[in-house]
Amino acid sequence: MWTKRLFWLLSLGLIIWPLGCKWGREATRGQSPSARPEIVETLRENLELDRHPSDGGGRAWLEGGSGDPSTAVTAGHPGRWSLVFETGPLGIAEGGWIFFQAPPFWHWSTPQPFDPEQPGFTLVSTEAEGVELAPATIDQQLMAIEIRGRALEPGEQVRIVYGAGPTGALADRYAEHRSRFWVAVDGNGDGIRRAVADPLWVDVLGGAAARLVLTLPSTARPGESVELTIAVLDRFGNLSKEFTGEVALTGPATELDLPSTVEFAAEDEGTRRIEITFVEEGIYRIQAEGADGLDAASNPLMVAAGLDRILWGDIHGHSNLSDGSGTPEDYFRYARDVAALDVVSLTDHDHWGMEPLAIHPDVWEGIKEQAELFNQPEKFVTLLGYEWTNWIHGHRHVLFFEDQAELFDSTDPDYDTPDKLWAALRGREVLTVAHHSAGGPIATNWNYLPDPELEPVTEIVSVHGSSEALDSPAVIYSPVPGNFVRDVLDSGVRFGFIGSGDGHDGHPGLAHLNGPSGGLAAILSDGLTREEILAAIRSRRVYATNGPRILLRVSLGELGMGSVLEAGPHAPDRLRVFVAAPEPLERLDLIRSGAVVVTVPGDGQRTFSWQSQLQDLRPGEYIYVRAVQIDGGAAWSSPIFLE
Ligand SMILES: [Zn+2]
Ligand SMILES: [Zn+2]
Repeated sequence: MWTKRLFWLLSLGLIIWPLGCKWGREATRGQSPSARPEIVETLRENLELDRHPSDGGGRAWLEGGSGDPSTAVTAGHPGRWSLVFETGPLGIAEGGWIFFQAPPFWHWSTPQPFDPEQPGFTLVSTEAEGVELAPATIDQQLMAIEIRGRALEPGEQVRIVYGAGPTGALADRYAEHRSRFWVAVDGNGDGIRRAVADPLWVDVLGGAAARLVLTLPSTARPGESVELTIAVLDRFGNLSKEFTGEVALTGPATELDLPSTVEFAAEDEGTRRIEITFVEEGIYRIQAEGADGLDAASNPLMVAAGLDRILWGDIHGHSNLSDGSGTPEDYFRYARDVAALDVVSLTDHDHWGMEPLAIHPDVWEGIKEQAELFNQPEKFVTLLGYEWTNWIHGHRHVLFFEDQAELFDSTDPDYDTPDKLWAALRGREVLTVAHHSAGGPIATNWNYLPDPELEPVTEIVSVHGSSEALDSPAVIYSPVPGNFVRDVLDSGVRFGFIGSGDGHDGHPGLAHLNGPSGGLAAILSDGLTREEILAAIRSRRVYATNGPRILLRVSLGELGMGSVLEAGPHAPDRLRVFVAAPEPLERLDLIRSGAVVVTVPGDGQRTFSWQSQLQDLRPGEYIYVRAVQIDGGAAWSSPIFLE
């Protein structure tokens, strides 16, 4: 699947990578055990292609109009769209090609000219006499139309009807604005094409209500008011904006100012927030029920004095500017209003997708603008970011905690190794995060040890699965034994653990709704500003989950997760663990210096306390815990290190 996707993504490169640059090589420290030099080779070849002046000539439009409500479609539903292409001043030679590409992200029907009964059936026609059109499906979502008989003269038109059969063409499963259709032209038939300049696009809307998500913060002080966020989603996790009706709420027996019902009106567009004040200490959960079997329970909220506040972040994900879904505005809005995140970062690829950031500075500027617009210190913090998508040493996303943000391209010989990237970023309020490091699309080359200043944490879990260890729940696909995060800890490196979605569905904070694994970063910080979040991450006061908001507290003596402790006869050795999980727990594992040393059954409890006296703690050791729910949801504490 990945290889196939890779192939056609690269085939897009024929259209979209017009700049030439060389991929540098570093002999001394090797490369990722699953490096993809063939991608680099293909990139390099594509970059050096000469495009004929007639490539990309002409104009195209969508009948009804891009963004017009009449051309919108509900996610996962069929539609029919009619596009017109008009030849430019250089025409298209006999043997030249027109390409039609349905939006490549995600799950649009592949246009096909063979079977009118199947989704994606596409009719092509022209009134140009003597011209014969020969359409063929050449890849996922991609149709090529050969011009035969004679050349297409300037001004002659070709009509493309996508979804022409009774089953139409199925749209993307993920709601988004500006889902783009692409028309490209190979004017002289040499196999090299370029997209025409006009953007054609439709809006994809969320569908009927199918699930509720209830979100509370995880921590509060007695007497503090907090917000309960209720979001109504369709079956793919998109916001169901049309939902109207009542949702009934129930809470614990204690006195709460919780309304018994909440009314959704059309102008609520599928989300409501209500304030609740929790007076007494305790663990709270709220249940909700609506018509048609809608029901949900919130994550647990712990109310206690003197608690470390937990902020929830998803600081790695993609929009439709690279290979994800939705505009940056869609992405930030979902993170804030639907997933009720505290911290979010959009990290599109530097050179992947149709208009790579690295060579489209206007796209990068647009992301910066949106990140600034949504950043609201003390309420909702956005971080500007991008993904350094390096196919030799592994991927890292770069997170900016300052306004100054320069994109260092992973294909640029000046920035194409981790060391060069870190040298460029040093001294700045910036972090890098290695991800899917034990496998997935590409594993990390750990011969470059994480920079202690710029890379204090690692993303151990996302939609790709867990990179913690082979014995982890929902281990990453294509795992590389010996390349796991635990192996890196064994080599003496210190870093903390975070999760993040790496979502491509436009659902930051809720990437786990569409698969077995997602990712969240729990950040222990009283303050909700970029500066305070950076300080918390730098001191490893963080932990990871694969999606659920599991509350996890770990301490060794007085020291919390991420700390460094001096070993010795007077060092504290009492480990205390507390878990409050949304779902029943299967077990708690204690990992000490390379191995699971204790497993405690969870007995289906959702709230769980455990402590243990650790024997013979020696310098160089590390310990951490992971709590695993029966449904596979899991949380990993950051390690505590001994020196
Ligand atoms: Zn990646
Ligand atoms: Zn990514």
